[in-house]
Amino acid sequence: MPTVKPVMSQNLFLAGLSRDCQEALDPHLEIIEIRKGQPDERSYAQSEAIYFPLTGLFSVEMRLADGFSAHLALLGFRNAICGKHLTDIALPGHARAVIAGYSLKIPKDKFLDAVAAHADLQRRLQDQLIQITSLIGLGSACNLHHSLSKRLARWLLFAVDISAAKLFDLTHEELANLLGVRREAVTEAVARLAQSGAIETSRGRLAVSDQARLQSFACECHRNWASSQTALQAGANAVKFRSANPRTGEAMVASGM
Ligand SMILES: [Zn+2]
Repeated sequence: MPTVKPVMSQNLFLAGLSRDCQEALDPHLEIIEIRKGQPDERSYAQSEAIYFPLTGLFSVEMRLADGFSAHLALLGFRNAICGKHLTDIALPGHARAVIAGYSLKIPKDKFLDAVAAHADLQRRLQDQLIQITSLIGLGSACNLHHSLSKRLARWLLFAVDISAAKLFDLTHEELANLLGVRREAVTEAVARLAQSGAIETSRGRLAVSDQARLQSFACECHRNWASSQTALQAGANAVKFRSANPRTGEAMVASGM
């Protein structure tokens, strides 16, 4: 019986796929180290690969005409990350690591072969698209209406959820770029959270030391998103998906998914 790499279970996008689909992807997956800032846009275009993060944190960013990048959403070990030219997977912008880590990587052509052959992989991509669109919408509303210190607390709570880590190598400059504000403003907001005991900071490093306290400083956006994810999961568990009968080609109901 074919086996798959045990490390596949550390990326929840891969872990949620059918065994057949995992076995189809497995021979083409390699583990790579991702440094901060990688993959850059050039390597995306050249390698034409899909990444499945195991650790670390990725920022989805939209490059603007003046050279600045706008941070749209955070991705991590629950996601598949691809180059911007794979519009069929519809990840907007470009994802780069803001926290270094390890990732599984597969060539684009092998991945697309699996997408064509496995309905559960297509559904998973659709689910991810909905999730990222919802994250981007939430971030836009939050950036427009909530104060910086609340946004910073919200961002850190997302970072914990999405990376399953509580220690981040991030300078105030990097945080300022991610939040789209001046570094001085981030320094003040970080100091406020550190004084409360919600986080601890040292040079270029930030640790979430009291998540409940951090939650009390954050706007409602993280809480709302977490509730919506729970509701989505409950809905997905209750829904009976339709799939094609491989012998007759007719639609049938697959229950228990
Ligand atoms: Zn908010």
